[in-house]
Amino acid sequence: MPELPEVETVVRDLRPRIIGAEISAARSTWSRTLRTHGPEAFDIEVRGRRVEAVNRRAKLLVIELSGGVALTIHLKMTGQLFVVAATTPEDAYIRLVLAFTDGRELRFRDIRKFGRVGLYGRDQGTGELVNEAGGSAVFAGHGPEPLDPSFSVTAFRRRFRARKGRLKPLLLDQSFIAGIGNIYADEALWAARLHPLRSAASVRPADERRLYLAIRSILAEAIERRGSSIDDYTAPDGDGEMQERLQVYQRTGEPCPRCGRPIRRIVIGARATHFCSWCQRLPAAQRRALERSGGIAILRAMTARRATLADPRVASNTLRTKTAAANRRAAARSSTSAGVD
Ligand SMILES: [Zn+2]
Repeated sequence: MPELPEVETVVRDLRPRIIGAEISAARSTWSRTLRTHGPEAFDIEVRGRRVEAVNRRAKLLVIELSGGVALTIHLKMTGQLFVVAATTPEDAYIRLVLAFTDGRELRFRDIRKFGRVGLYGRDQGTGELVNEAGGSAVFAGHGPEPLDPSFSVTAFRRRFRARKGRLKPLLLDQSFIAGIGNIYADEALWAARLHPLRSAASVRPADERRLYLAIRSILAEAIERRGSSIDDYTAPDGDGEMQERLQVYQRTGEPCPRCGRPIRRIVIGARATHFCSWCQRLPAAQRRALERSGGIAILRAMTARRATLADPRVASNTLRTKTAAANRRAAARSSTSAGVD
């Protein structure tokens, strides 16, 4: 699923294409894509509005329209956005189209249909996006932006020390910090040499600082490299290349770039988690506590005979998955290749 760097890349690619464009009509082919309106009401609401700005908050795009309203777009698993001439043929996966008066269209393509688009007004008092006047803010549940200049190591420490629980689920918790998902949580923990199952309470000040710096530098590098084109993520200007730079994510069995031992994969909270059990040690006391608390299955997976790339099943499954995803992205691009800018 696209995380902060991927969504930021889509935002930056869209900006020069759609700022200033005026919407002439909206057409949706899958009504559940629209979170806040029915298809007809949505069309009536957006018609005649101009795109004033394209921004991001957490993992959502925020498209500011004239008249003080904004669209939020959550790409979820397979959402993609393209700007094309209205005459470009449309494939079966286009869920929502915003037609512009200049003959182009912004198309939301979403194979799995989990993506959601909302239309919100702003609260006069707070300026926050809200469902209705006086209602709760759309982003009320989201933590700070990790790359915001005001997000200092002190601010990180303050939030971190108020939290309990294990590090991997904490990093995925959008109310803690916004925008981090499975890819960059694994990468940040590896860079900071912290075990994903380690408890936040056991982390020392020096570790906190390393984690803070790792989160910021990995997200910044990922934006520079246009995100990780794993699965279906692609952007209007093309795929990202951060997937080439990931050190542990989906590299099960490959040698850890730091120590050479094989990268392990365990499942934490239903999410695949990649780490190096040598560089990212779980303190002995926590390991024993995990054994006592029924985390036996996890520990067994951690110590089981590791699947390595020498195992042909693992290698061919990985290759098959990556090839299938690359083919899907190529198909998405070719279905919109008559695009104009
Ligand atoms: Zn290692």
